[in-house]
Amino acid sequence: MSLYEIIKVPNPFLKVKAKPVIEIDNKILTLLDDMLDTMYNANGIGLAATQIAIDKRLIVMDCGKNNIDEEEISEEEYNKKIKNDKLEPFPIKMINPEIIFLSEDLKEREEGCLSIPGYNANVKRPSSLKVRYTDENKKNITLEASGLLATCIQHEIDHLNGILFIDHISKLKREIILKKAIKEYSKQ
Ligand code: ZN
Repeated sequence: MSLYEIIKVPNPFLKVKAKPVIEIDNKILTLLDDMLDTMYNANGIGLAATQIAIDKRLIVMDCGKNNIDEEEISEEEYNKKIKNDKLEPFPIKMINPEIIFLSEDLKEREEGCLSIPGYNANVKRPSSLKVRYTDENKKNITLEASGLLATCIQHEIDHLNGILFIDHISKLKREIILKKAIKEYSKQ
């Protein structure tokens, strides 16, 4: 297993639209494992291949097991569990994910990103969705998601299309975050 370097703004690769995976071979499966390791190592809950400068439609996530159980817990309860680190790990690997349904009702949630570390903003997105993808066993899956997982899936698929969470906020807020973040990272 190896860890990849996560690219940050203003790296132009973050704007690249990723290409579909044609063949799920061992290289892809190893890459997915390495992406999960890279994500856990950075204390993230999601990572897209774009963020390690690979233009393939691959994302990994771990929002904890409870959030995709049928019995959904309240958001407050969920956030408490996240803080206390009491969620059972539940890694998800998606190859060529595609959103096939987005709910009309929206939910605002604070988002952060491993490519803009240290900067968060509230983003309004559809509160639930259906996503179709191929998993690591080459099985086609349709998953219904709500809560944090729904936010995470939309955030990660956005990356595959060259979109960052700050592209969903006002231009003024986006420019403030970008300016500060780029200045900070350039000193590192
Ligand atoms: Zn991100």
